Amino acid sequence: MPVKNRIADLHEEVAAWRRDIHENPEILYETHRTSALVADKLKGFGCDEVVTGIGRTGVVAVIRGKSDTRGKAIGLRADMDALPMQEQGDIPHASKIPGAMHACGHDGHTAMLLGAAKYLAETRNFDGTAVVIFQPAEEGGNGAEAMCKDGMMERFGIDEVYAIHNSPGLEIGKFALRPGPILASVDEFTIQLQGRGGHAAKPQETVDTTVLMAHLICALQTVVARNMDPVLQGVLSITSAETSSKAFNVIPDRAEVRGTIRTHSPEVRKMIPERLQEIVEGITSTFGGSADLSFHLGVPVTINDAVATEHARRAAESVAGEAGCVEVPLAMGGEDFSFMLEERPGAMIRLGNGPSAGLHHPEYDFNDEAIPAGISWFAEMIEQRMPAE
Ligand SMILES: [Zn+2]
Ligand SMILES: [Zn+2]
Repeated sequence: MPVKNRIADLHEEVAAWRRDIHENPEILYETHRTSALVADKLKGFGCDEVVTGIGRTGVVAVIRGKSDTRGKAIGLRADMDALPMQEQGDIPHASKIPGAMHACGHDGHTAMLLGAAKYLAETRNFDGTAVVIFQPAEEGGNGAEAMCKDGMMERFGIDEVYAIHNSPGLEIGKFALRPGPILASVDEFTIQLQGRGGHAAKPQETVDTTVLMAHLICALQTVVARNMDPVLQGVLSITSAETSSKAFNVIPDRAEVRGTIRTHSPEVRKMIPERLQEIVEGITSTFGGSADLSFHLGVPVTINDAVATEHARRAAESVAGEAGCVEVPLAMGGEDFSFMLEERPGAMIRLGNGPSAGLHHPEYDFNDEAIPAGISWFAEMIEQRMPAE
């Protein structure tokens, strides 16, 4: 049986923690209750160090093996935050907080990593240091970046870093993985257009921002179609277009266009904003008016290190067998763990959540049956990467 007896024994206890976290979801950096619960448990397990307040509400704990003479440290990361949405599923442990819900399974990730910390602190069957990382604000708050900026990697001497994300539709107990890019970078842009407003019957006296906006939106469609290498993946979507007037007889003087850019290629991530700037300048010089373009940089491309992916695969295969570790399809979602992967080699693996509702769906729930496989993978990562003498 690939799941260790001790880990199988932890299943009910960890599931109870998971449901408690599910009932009490917290958003972005406001994970005060969850962080306190995590820190309390880690102290109770006898971790060698438990540090709070990294990346505002992040928690990190250190578990030293039988001997740490080799000095290697492996980081394992879970996210703690929920989403600002109303839960609609009919489950006994549904959210008690209106407008907040664990719809991405971060309750499960946190509980599984706590279970792994308990097991590792009890058994210490490795030679090196396990660093367990609990981050806030994965959902659009760049919590991983905040923890890295607080010097987490250097402070705890982390050499490699690994994470799990659950995957609805993938069978319970199965893992999915691939080397290289797995999830997209997610950036946003806003373009403020300024023309000269006036009477709809006297266009010759105006600089019409609606015409400016229309040409701009069409021209932006050419960036992915004509400037991007077609073998690479990327998408530019306009998601909002508004002018300053709703009247039938007024040419508005202002307009605002918003959109998102996603790609699996760091080169494309650099090229698209440059091209966007050129197009905006070209359109305004053709039609008049002026434009102000601003970017909100979100998460980078999530890139699994090739060697670390092989380590992650070996750990998964020892839990689920060779057939239990499949190739994960590329997706255009974004993942904040990418900030940690920019700093250290590592990999994110997907863990089957069975036939549940999709991530971010109001009826989604993390499947507690996935817990033993998740804890086992975390434990194997530590025991295989830093075997005891
Ligand atoms: Zn999510
Ligand atoms: Zn998530």
